[in-house]
Amino acid sequence: MKIQVGNKLCDVKVLFSEQQIGTRIAEIAADINSTPPADGSALVVLVVLHGALLFAADLIRHLNLATEIESVRIRSYHGTQSTGKIELLSQLPERLKGRHVLVVEDIIDSGRSIAFLKDKLNTLGVASLRIAALLDKPEAHEESIQADYVGFKIGRNFVIGYGLDLDGHYRNLPYVAEVIQ
Ligand code: 5GP
Ligand code: MG
Repeated sequence: MKIQVGNKLCDVKVLFSEQQIGTRIAEIAADINSTPPADGSALVVLVVLHGALLFAADLIRHLNLATEIESVRIRSYHGTQSTGKIELLSQLPERLKGRHVLVVEDIIDSGRSIAFLKDKLNTLGVASLRIAALLDKPEAHEESIQADYVGFKIGRNFVIGYGLDLDGHYRNLPYVAEVIQ
């Protein structure tokens, strides 16, 4: 498949198939299931929209502990470039205060989005905070951020599919693919 990036036609290469993603998500869910909140309360899954929508939907289906779902909208990318400026496009749910929260994110790149969100959640006063990211680009980190659960580590290249977009498109692809620029 070829896709249009600006005025260039680029190749895409599948990095992780639907099946590989499914297998890895089941492993991550097993990990999460083995460490429920110590006080017996529900785990609040905070889905970072829109990118983590597909990952969260599949992950949550494998969770066998008391679970609630919340969401937040954040944006930092335009096209294939990070703007460096993080925008909260929806309010952080007040009811996260005092709760055990699992942030579900599509990908950690510079780490700025997660650092920003972590800061907001700590200010709000969550009881505990863990982070699950489907993808992680360790070489691109600019913040010392470490997710508790990572699906796959990848290089710096821009990826699309399985929730990840290029200017709003390609989130529907069932696999993760790299854009060769
Ligand atoms: P960070 O703040 O860590 O630099 O960027 C995190 C956000 O940027 C992710 O949640 C995601 O929305 C977007 N992002 C980072 N890398 C990629 C990528 O390779 N492809 C896509 N589609 N989005 C990315
Ligand atoms: Mg995102």
